[in-house]
Amino acid sequence: MLIKKNALEFILGVSRELYPREFSCQLRGTDEVIEEAIVLPKTIYGEGFASTYLNMKPIDSSIIGSAHSHPTANNKPSAQDLRFFESFGLVHLIIKYPHKTIRDIAAYNRNGEIMPVESTP
Ligand SMILES: [Zn+2]
Repeated sequence: MLIKKNALEFILGVSRELYPREFSCQLRGTDEVIEEAIVLPKTIYGEGFASTYLNMKPIDSSIIGSAHSHPTANNKPSAQDLRFFESFGLVHLIIKYPHKTIRDIAAYNRNGEIMPVESTP
């Protein structure tokens, strides 16, 4: 999976800005490229954000997945994350602290299996 540089920088930037709160968004693109990060107006940023996040339904068919940050240096999915990943999409990103580079990002498919992700201009 590829991610456009703009989308990558946006996700990392907002993750850093909101730290230690968590950030979540949807991803728009194709089956090959994550083109854009979409922040839903109703998304609540905060430590208790999980219920909003789990109810986050894709807003249209170009939504290919989700991204969210973790406030720790761990980008492994929680049991709750895995249940959410199963519900839709092709790719789900978790961004770990310090939210600085693509190396802080892990990408997972719906089954929670890790997949490679690379930046593209
Ligand atoms: Zn998580």
